[in-house]
Amino acid sequence: MSTRGERAAAGGARGTFSRGGDPESRRPEDPAVRRANTRRILRLFRPYRTRLVLLLGLIAVTAAISTIPAFLLRELLDGVFRDPRTIDTTRLDLLVAGMVGIPIVTGVIGVWQTWLSNRIGQDVMHDLRASVYAHLQRLSLAFFTRTRTGEVQSRIANDIGGVQSVVTSTATSIVSNITTVIATAFAMLFLNWKLSLVAFALLPVFVLLTRRVGAQRREITRVKQGSLADISTLVEESLSVSGVMLGKTMGQSDVLTERFRGESARLAELELRQRMAGRWVMSSIQTTFAVMPALIYGVAGHAMAGGWAQVSVGTLVAFTTMQTRLFFPVGSLLSVQADVQSSLALFDRIFEYLDLPVDIQERPGAIDLPREQVQGEVRLEHVSFAYEPDRPVLQDVGFTAEPGTKVAIVGETGSGKTTLGYLIARLYDVSAGAVLLDGHDVRDLSFASLRRIVGVVSQDTYLFHGSVRENLRFARPDATDEQLEEAAAAARIHDHLASLPEGYDTVVGERGYRFSGGEKQRLAIARALLRDPCVLVLDEATSALDVETERLVQQALDGLTAGRTTIVIAHRLSTIRDSDLILVLDHGRVIERGTHDELLAIDGRYARLIERDAAIIV
Ligand code: ADP
Repeated sequence: MSTRGERAAAGGARGTFSRGGDPESRRPEDPAVRRANTRRILRLFRPYRTRLVLLLGLIAVTAAISTIPAFLLRELLDGVFRDPRTIDTTRLDLLVAGMVGIPIVTGVIGVWQTWLSNRIGQDVMHDLRASVYAHLQRLSLAFFTRTRTGEVQSRIANDIGGVQSVVTSTATSIVSNITTVIATAFAMLFLNWKLSLVAFALLPVFVLLTRRVGAQRREITRVKQGSLADISTLVEESLSVSGVMLGKTMGQSDVLTERFRGESARLAELELRQRMAGRWVMSSIQTTFAVMPALIYGVAGHAMAGGWAQVSVGTLVAFTTMQTRLFFPVGSLLSVQADVQSSLALFDRIFEYLDLPVDIQERPGAIDLPREQVQGEVRLEHVSFAYEPDRPVLQDVGFTAEPGTKVAIVGETGSGKTTLGYLIARLYDVSAGAVLLDGHDVRDLSFASLRRIVGVVSQDTYLFHGSVRENLRFARPDATDEQLEEAAAAARIHDHLASLPEGYDTVVGERGYRFSGGEKQRLAIARALLRDPCVLVLDEATSALDVETERLVQQALDGLTAGRTTIVIAHRLSTIRDSDLILVLDHGRVIERGTHDELLAIDGRYARLIERDAAIIV
């Protein structure tokens, strides 16, 4: 019989090294959805509106006061330096002080502005991150079995991370560029309106050039993001412990390396194209920038020579400095549309996650059963279930487990045994019929009481990265050290733990101490003992244990099941002979039921399974 772990690995392999979807930065098609999402984004910022207003105010002030130095410069050139023989030093000092003071003031405001924008960005990001995580925690197992591992991490890390830059760069730069353009344009008009018209006339050329680059870049960025996501999923999955193991044991390491090489080369190519996109156009823009002052000097000079206009040297110099300040922001504003689109797309993707329906919910006014009032009767009434429509996994299953008794579920691999256990713990909801605990439909019970009543010991014990103590205490956070040790002793694992150099503080998990299968099982039993549920769903592991370990695990299990209603998902038949009721499942239907002796007497499927088991053991 294959184990659930193996099947999980095989299932993983399907999703695992596959080329994933295309998490691109496109916005939803429906304009109504887009508008609703935009309103939703604004709502996210509502708690921080005071800071936001302050930030916008600071940006506007900075834009306004940074036009002042140009006027001071004009004054300096036309007023103070006009005649080198009569320099008014008081005026000079004042102007110099102004020209020194203003950058200092804008610098200080700039720091404050950066702090504010980052603060707001981080706060919004934190809110989103926390609510996405909380929402994901509420989703059922079904979501996690159908979602790629890398995908969830990528949304939490990259997408939400990207949100911060929306505030700190995109939004701030839009506001600051707009205010700078307005302030500068006014300042230019004020300096000399005729020259301003000449300068403004050059703007459309510039606009056209910039627009072309934007469109090209946008497309390449979109493709690149998909490629990046593929690479990170491939790395995350194929370089995890189980992924590496699967790759090695299946002799696929080289294939994976080749696949990675291909993806990486594709990415390199895209990066290059992205950087080169419109490089020529950019060069032309830069050249335009550089020659602009010369053109203005030329136009002004000819105008004066022709007697059409009179422009002072100060005005000319001040004007050309202003002009440069105008073009940069206009350029950024033109390309900002793409940034805004992809920022909004980030939010769209996050909202998609937040809107995933919670399929298994606690009913309003759910019943809270205190532990002491629970007898532990488990009853299944006409239960049917399917993971996917039209592929029934369980059909019309019914039985009653009296309090304190042991019911064993046996059957071929894939007959639905594990699924039955999931339904009792309400990890999934039945498609038809009902699962009742002490006569209460599990869907009517509060999650808290359900978790108190039903305990699950699954085949593969998950130990997270942390000490043994923390791993045990996860089952019962308020347990004292003595209680942990008591549970470990009852689970026959205490002696082993105590013999480790760091005892209960030994770090376990992916990068820590590796427990054997039998040890992990006993840790799982210790956890279950700490939780002390009335009903226990026990997915018996199939891993072959040596005689001594088997004896220890069995002792631990006997200690655990005593006095509890136990539903054993049996993979070895030797351990279930004493069960009060044995159900034989076949393709999701109960085909035989009774005690060991009764079932042997029928001489049906159970008897065949026993024969086969005996043949394997011998
Ligand atoms: P058993 O424990 O008896 O080996 P399971 O309950 O694990 O059987 O599986 C019963 C059937 O449901 C199998 O055909 C299996 O492929 C299918 N199945 C199990 N888990 C899922 C899932 N998450 N999504 C879709 N089908 C599943």
